Amino acid sequence: SRELLARSDKLAAVGQLAAGIAHEIRNPLTALRGFIDLMYQRARSHNRRYLEIMRGEVSRMEAIVSELLRLARPDRPQFQQLDLVDLVQEVVAFMNAQALLHGVDIQYAPRAASVTVAGDSNQLKQVLINLMRNGIEAMPRGGVLRVSLWEDSGRACVQIADQGSGMRPEALARIGEPFYTTKEQGTGLGVMVSKRIVADHGGELLIESEEGRGTTVTILLPAAQSPA
Ligand code: ADP
Ligand code: MG
Repeated sequence: SRELLARSDKLAAVGQLAAGIAHEIRNPLTALRGFIDLMYQRARSHNRRYLEIMRGEVSRMEAIVSELLRLARPDRPQFQQLDLVDLVQEVVAFMNAQALLHGVDIQYAPRAASVTVAGDSNQLKQVLINLMRNGIEAMPRGGVLRVSLWEDSGRACVQIADQGSGMRPEALARIGEPFYTTKEQGTGLGVMVSKRIVADHGGELLIESEEGRGTTVTILLPAAQSPA
């Protein structure tokens, strides 16, 4: 346990350093983006292609920096009683546009009229967005993303199942490792952040996957007493 403590101290130090660096990198990135946009307006079409790539890469750096800042300095969670039936519905509505663009149909079927947990709604939305996005991105040729919700033995369970690429066991073992990504524009931080948030809520995140068949992610959270 002393070793664990030393490790968490180290992690905290690394986190502070990461936050400092992320913060310093943000301003130059904003400047880069501004000048890329300016050049784009004046560029010939063959150069525009390069500038679009540059803009895409700057966006990716910005995404990594924001995730790092969120990791290192998480907002103090605001816990309140939440009905997951509504919260998941909101996120599904929010994600529908992106899903449609990818030919993905999100099918949401809560198995209870209400499922109450104590949690931070923004953080839990972030988890749902990260995991649904991964499901959508795993189905480049479209498909169905099944989202279900139920309560069992004092636990609220949200399940997100895709019919996408799935993962080999070696990939599944690495998921959630910082910066582990197989995507050209990925940050490799989405699952890590999600696991952290769920753990902060006293819950856990389970991931099952079969290559070529799809992936099922289950979020387990302690259920709160529903108001009578
Ligand atoms: P990112 O999405 O930016 O790559 P994540 O932490 O969200 O970062 O995911 C890490 C990696 O785990 C992804 O690049 C992908 O290889 C794999 N992964 C995550 N979710 C899924 C999924 N639903 N189906 C297949 N692979 C997945
Ligand atoms: Mg992701």
